[in-house]
Parts: sequence; structure tokens; C-alpha cells
Amino acid sequence: MAKIIAIANQKGGVGKTTSAVNLSACVAQQSRRVLAIDIDPQGNMTSGLGVDKNTVTSSVYDVLINKLDVRDAIVPTQVENLSLLPANIELAGAEVELVGMMAREQVLKRAIYKVANDYDYVFIDCPPSLGLVTLNAITASTDVLIPLISEVLPFKGLTMMSDFISMVRQKLNPQAHISGIVITRWENSKLSRGIEERLRVWEGDVVYRSKIRKNVRLAEAPLQNRNILDYASGSNGAKDYTSLAEEFLERMNEEKEVAV
Ligand code: ADP
Ligand code: MG
Repeated sequence: MAKIIAIANQKGGVGKTTSAVNLSACVAQQSRRVLAIDIDPQGNMTSGLGVDKNTVTSSVYDVLINKLDVRDAIVPTQVENLSLLPANIELAGAEVELVGMMAREQVLKRAIYKVANDYDYVFIDCPPSLGLVTLNAITASTDVLIPLISEVLPFKGLTMMSDFISMVRQKLNPQAHISGIVITRWENSKLSRGIEERLRVWEGDVVYRSKIRKNVRLAEAPLQNRNILDYASGSNGAKDYTSLAEEFLERMNEEKEVAV
């Protein structure tokens, strides 16, 4: 069954979507079958993977409210091995509509499990909040990946995420855990270096060795609805996400060996 990775952080602008788009593309490029799931009503992962969010007629929203089978909402992307469950602005209503549903925290999980054997990895791009939609993602996950920017001390936000995930682990999903933290928009400044150093001391091996440097190509690519491999394959952004994907796959394999 697929590993299901929720890419989450309640803060906006930390690189969740950039990481979700480009990690999905880089892992797919390594010949793994990948499903990308956009659960942010902004739909930036959807457009970042080359699907026009304004013309999407069947989306993750229809799946969450049980209007549509997940298989009928998944679309192929231009990247080989990479499929997408898209989102659009309709999803903004889901927080409210889910409240009245039975087992409202498990809706996404049930949908993903129907197709989990068709993929090796499922990456979920979460919205910048800890509401019911993010709760669904963490409940469905086997792993949580947290992107952080090394500009401000992230420790308070990290504690909030960690408490939220512990709550999910106790009540809804015993597998829920932070399996990775990735430093994004890294710059070679005293501030960035200082924050990175403290993060590695405090959080240890959970922090990926690979970090994502600040790179203007990573900010330009989504404006053309392209991933970084497609938009600027020789850029630092492409190199950094390729390294991250390699390290990610290494870690996932290690976990499998331990389980055997
Ligand atoms: P989130 O999904 O957490 O809100 P995004 O991935 O959308 O964050 O990133 C926020 C903004 O920063 C976007 O405009 C994105 O293009 C830009 N960005 C993200 N990562 C980088 C990077 N490594 N270098 C330069 N710009 C980046
Ligand atoms: Mg985002």
C-alpha cells in the first residue's frame, strides 16, 4: 500500500505547495507511482502541476462530500507516473459541510484507501490552518512532512503542529507522526545558519540533510504552471528538490527494511 505523506504547517508561505509540487514531480521521475492530492482551496498545487483550476469540474471537494468516487476525480498530469486529485475554490465550503457528516475526520482516508494500491506515494498539500481539512489529511497519513523557513524561529509553530499531530495519533490514527522537517527558502546568512543549527540540535535526525535554497526559479515556475524539473532543470531549485527526493526515498526504504 502507498505511503501517504501529509505536507503540513499551519503557517502560510513556508513552502508547503512548492515542496508538494516538486517533491511529487521528483519522486515520480524516480519511477515511483505518485498521487498528488490538493486540499487547499487556493488550488496552487493543481495549477503548479499544469492543471487549470478554473476548468476543473470534478475535484477533491466532490470526493469529500461523497458526491463522487475518488477514481472519477483523479486526472493524469504532464509528468509520467504522476496523477492528481485537484482542488478549486469550491473546497472553501468543505470545512463547514464536513461538520455535519458522519466520521467527518475519516472521509479523505476512506477515499485514499480505495486507490492506495495503485500508487507508491501519495503527497497531500494541506491548507495553512489546522481545521477539519488538515485534520483529514493527518488522519489519513502514514507520515507528516513539515516545511519550515529559516527566517524566524519556528519553534512555537512546531510545538503547535506537534501537539496537533499527537492528538490525532491518540484519537484517530496511531500512525500519525512527523517523519520529516525540511528547511526551505534557505539563504547563506548568519540568521539562516543560526536557525538551521538550532533546529538540527533540537529536532535531530527528523530534519532532512537536504535543504531547499532560496531560488527565484522556484518562485517563477508556478507562474507558468510548471514544476521545477520542467521549468528549469539545471537550477538550484531542481537540484535541491532532486536531493530531497533521493533522501526521502532512502528514508522510506529504511523504514520498510526495519518492518520486515
Ligand atoms: P505555502 O504553500 O506554505 O503557503 P508556498 O510553497 O506557496 O508556501 O511558497 C510561498 C511563496 O514562496 C511562493 O510564492 C513560492 O513561489 C515562494 N517560494 C517557496 N519556496 C521558495 C524557494 N526555495 N525559493 C524562492 N521562493 C520560494
Ligand atoms: Mg500552499
